[in-house]
Amino acid sequence: MSAPRPLSFLAHVLLPPLCVHCAEPLPRSRPGICRWCRATLRPLPPGCRRCSLPRPGSPPECDRCRAWPTGLEAVAATRYAGAAESVVHALKYRGWSHLAELCAASMAEPLAERTPSLDAIVPVPLHRARLRERGFNQSALLARAIGDRLGIPVVEALCRSRPTHSQVGLGRAARKRNVDGAFTIAARVRPGSVLALVDDVATSGATLSAAATALIAAGASRVPAVTFALALEGPPR
Ligand SMILES: [Zn+2]
Ligand SMILES: [Zn+2]
Repeated sequence: MSAPRPLSFLAHVLLPPLCVHCAEPLPRSRPGICRWCRATLRPLPPGCRRCSLPRPGSPPECDRCRAWPTGLEAVAATRYAGAAESVVHALKYRGWSHLAELCAASMAEPLAERTPSLDAIVPVPLHRARLRERGFNQSALLARAIGDRLGIPVVEALCRSRPTHSQVGLGRAARKRNVDGAFTIAARVRPGSVLALVDDVATSGATLSAAATALIAAGASRVPAVTFALALEGPPR
């Protein structure tokens, strides 16, 4: 049974905030994640030059990004596991929007290093039904925080024109079918522009690929993408 409202309010006021991953009490001035868990959010080891998938030996061909549209490449701040998974869950399902700033701090640099001349930042959109249900788009929060850091405008240039299922638990082919053709253009794209695509997590990259396909068809010349985390694909189901 949940605590009566006055008690839960008192608990909120009196108890310190807890780390999203290990529940260590945190100073009220720095809610979110403790410094030990933050230290585990390490950059990815070297991998594919185009999609950043960690691969020992860096062979020239990469299965993950072979079918991506020309112009799309992707970087990620860290691997989707442990504390990174807890951060994404808290941002996405508990609405802890202050975590967007923490994520953006590790996303802005690899994006700007890879592509110094960005014209705008484009969040991967939610379908309007999902947006109504959740109340916010976590990718838009990340895009705004990255835009503020880099001084680059955020443009909501995409619209998810049909609802899609969660990609969780789907194999690579099913992920692609789920999002293929799901995005349409919602704002004018200047021909030849370089648009950074922002999302919270990428796995096969099917969502990034479908979103980039729409931006490139509308005139973008390059779509460098950045996600907070990269999830390694399990066996296809
Ligand atoms: Zn912690
Ligand atoms: Zn690759």
